[in-house]
Amino acid sequence: MNKGFRTNSRARSAEPALIRFWGVRGSIPAPGPGTVRYGGNTSCVEIRADGQIIILDAGTGLRLLGRHLLAEAKEQPLELTLLLTHTHWDHIQGLPFFSPVYQPQNHLRVLGYEGARHGLAVVLAGQMATPFFPVRLREVPANVRIRELKQRRFQIGPVRVQARPANHPGKCVGYRLFTSCGSVAFFPDHEVPVADDAGAPGRIPAPAANRAMIQFLHGADVLIMDTQFDAEEYRQHRGWGHGCMDAVVELALQAKVKTLFLFHHAPDHDDAKVARMLARARRIVARRKGSLRVNAAREGMTVILPPAGRAGGGADAATNG
Ligand SMILES: [Zn+2]
Ligand SMILES: [Zn+2]
Repeated sequence: MNKGFRTNSRARSAEPALIRFWGVRGSIPAPGPGTVRYGGNTSCVEIRADGQIIILDAGTGLRLLGRHLLAEAKEQPLELTLLLTHTHWDHIQGLPFFSPVYQPQNHLRVLGYEGARHGLAVVLAGQMATPFFPVRLREVPANVRIRELKQRRFQIGPVRVQARPANHPGKCVGYRLFTSCGSVAFFPDHEVPVADDAGAPGRIPAPAANRAMIQFLHGADVLIMDTQFDAEEYRQHRGWGHGCMDAVVELALQAKVKTLFLFHHAPDHDDAKVARMLARARRIVARRKGSLRVNAAREGMTVILPPAGRAGGGADAATNG
């Protein structure tokens, strides 16, 4: 049972759920003047709901989240759950620099599926083994427990979680978290399969291949999904395991998702390019007369899901920009 801050451990279902983006980039960190607006850190999203602090992926954005958590906790013990989608570098590299693991009062539970037949714990310890890092994972002072998941459905306190394989090289999953304020789906790395005869790949997802995914995502309040490529780039990168933005918007429309966040921005996409992709995504929705809201995930952005039952409860993800 995981309770965020131990001294403030009540599940507070009357409070809104929060989603914070700490890293939104794919593949490799991309700092520099061209990525200042959307940010250069890799995959890391924080969810606070029902008394839980749940971290989705441990990309380089995790370092910033760690600093924020320690400043907020003021020496109080932290109880954190980290859910990993897979063990590619851009989803685990922040872990050695996650400062809460260097304080003995903190507890971190890491949940994920096996990493490329070596076992999750072996893979995570590997990136901190000599000669890659000076401190071994088993030497950190905090209580870190790594649990390799076998089942697809589980609970994090009162938050119900479902996992589903993603279309991505190696073992990779996405998650849907059901909070008292609505549900959040997270697929940072996923290629939406497109129909072979679609003419322009990326325009229309292959219906049969996507039916199960549409069902899995159906009615999600928030979907955070890999939109690494535009339609033109996707033609050159088909089968690489990353999403074509046009196809992801189509998928979200079919799944009746309420708000979609473009995510896993390509390291070579500067802020202007991400903004153009967002504008195009919104045009696709307008053309389809859809009610889907689309935004591009940005480092530092907070999304609020109001408690169910309140006006717009669960359905109205309000962002800070
Ligand atoms: Zn990735
Ligand atoms: Zn990956």
